[in-house]
Amino acid sequence: MAGKDEVRKYLSAKQGLRATFTVATHVVREMQSIQNTYPVASLAVGRSMVAAILLASVQKKGQVVSLHFKGDGPLDTFIGEATFEGEVRGYTKNPQLEVPLIDHKILVGPAIGKGTLTVVRTFGSDPAQKGSVEIQTGEVGDDVAYFLHKSDQIRSLVTLGVKVNAYGKVEAAGGVLIELMPDYDEAIVDLLMNNSLKVASISELIAAGGGALELKDLFLKDIEVHEIDHPHELTYTCRCSKARLIQAMELFPVEDLEDILRKGKEVEAKCEICGRVYEISLEKIEEIKNKVRKTTLH
Ligand SMILES: [Zn+2]
Repeated sequence: MAGKDEVRKYLSAKQGLRATFTVATHVVREMQSIQNTYPVASLAVGRSMVAAILLASVQKKGQVVSLHFKGDGPLDTFIGEATFEGEVRGYTKNPQLEVPLIDHKILVGPAIGKGTLTVVRTFGSDPAQKGSVEIQTGEVGDDVAYFLHKSDQIRSLVTLGVKVNAYGKVEAAGGVLIELMPDYDEAIVDLLMNNSLKVASISELIAAGGGALELKDLFLKDIEVHEIDHPHELTYTCRCSKARLIQAMELFPVEDLEDILRKGKEVEAKCEICGRVYEISLEKIEEIKNKVRKTTLH
């Protein structure tokens, strides 16, 4: 049984690296139970959620990091988003996609195909920082490492793991992000490579109950680090709201709103990311319609 979700962060100023470890089984499972994702979508969304947790945790308070994969394959799109404080969510356009096994494995790469990974970092009301790279393998971890190298000029080791069992249920999820600082010690690279090669599978390790501390002990073996406090719990949290939904409805064509009014039934709109249902009354729709009409008249 996988242990509790957590994030642990470490730093070694002497060796020039910082490292973040996470176990995120429960938040990925929650995403799966809301969106009923089949294996390939569970792996894709799960890994991008884990990557978002890792990237957001090393930033600063109030920061939001989202990863958007958009490709020409049948999966089309998947997104992982997290805040520094541990609010995580994920989404795919095609949660029930079924794919053939390749070498007895479920691969995300062929399902997402060729396309782009866009990383959006927002902080408060500052303009969003956006960077895009071409999707490399589509297995998420490689793409995130490529992004960090291309966009931030950071050499890194990114290992993401999501395990689904024979019934397609998420059994474990977690990841490792080790970033080298500009003044890193060259000897550390060999040590890190050696350590990581000894870890067969982080998702198996997490499925067997291993936590972030065990991951740290394996990946940072013989490397002197100190832990950085990060007292934030991971929760599956969506930032949708009725106000945002109404904002979205203000972009509807007037005819669509009139249609709803003609039917005379209030609208139930469900957020696909968190499953929350919002009821919009006919009075509110009338109000939206009048607003839309006003803005389209002049
Ligand atoms: Zn939502």
